[in-house]
Amino acid sequence: MIKVKELYKSFGQNEVLKGINLNIKKGEVVAIIGPSGSGKSTLLRCLNLLEKPTSGQVIFEENDLTNTKGTKLDQLRQKMGMVFQGFNLFPHKKVIENITLTPLTLKKASKTELENQANQLLKKVGLEEKSNVYPSKLSGGQKQRVAIARALAMNPAVILFDEPTSALDPEVVGEVLAVMKDLAKEGMTMVVVTHEMGFAKNVSDHVIFMDEGIVQEEGAPEQIFENPQNERTKQFLSKVL
Ligand code: ADP
Ligand code: MG
Repeated sequence: MIKVKELYKSFGQNEVLKGINLNIKKGEVVAIIGPSGSGKSTLLRCLNLLEKPTSGQVIFEENDLTNTKGTKLDQLRQKMGMVFQGFNLFPHKKVIENITLTPLTLKKASKTELENQANQLLKKVGLEEKSNVYPSKLSGGQKQRVAIARALAMNPAVILFDEPTSALDPEVVGEVLAVMKDLAKEGMTMVVVTHEMGFAKNVSDHVIFMDEGIVQEEGAPEQIFENPQNERTKQFLSKVL
């Protein structure tokens, strides 16, 4: 579904991504782990061109995003949902409006249809009773579940998660991971930057360990967690496990 070829990204003199190659298959859950500052968020943002690569290609469903512009690029990006650490909900809009706003603006369906769909998605993430409240009334875990429902409302082919549980109080991390686990079970393609090693180990199909802008090691979770080959991987895991 997504192919990354020789991706480089610099901010001024700072070369952050140094030749990344990746293949993400449909239905796969890919966990990206690695130390802070290693380029994980930059890589994720390059996948949907929120960040423009300095060179290299990002191919999404056969389309080279780095060589696509305008409406066509917008349409492709709409199929790539994104969930951030900080939720990014609109504070002055009710939960249901947060979910329907973008598909409504893009005229994806009628208002009634989109509201029905939004309520179903809220049910899916366990928040059906929160449809008409404002985000300020929600806990961090609830906000993040709304953000996931909002991403789902666009019927994405893939969802990119950037540390979706890092800003949460420990007691609500589990409820967000549970929703993500359900999505994984349903076959949603997911790319998840995470410090939750339990999720990477137990839910993902493929683990990518990044350090210093390079994929240092990748493989099945059993391989990475039980039999890492790269010294940096070993060092990192010894600190976080
Ligand atoms: P990670 O997500 O692994 O912690 P990031 O991708 O956020 O790493 O950052 C990698 C490096 O890129 C850091 O040195 C950071 O300062 C730099 N960086 C990230 N985004 C920007 C930006 N918009 N402008 C300048 N430097 C950036
Ligand atoms: Mg980051």
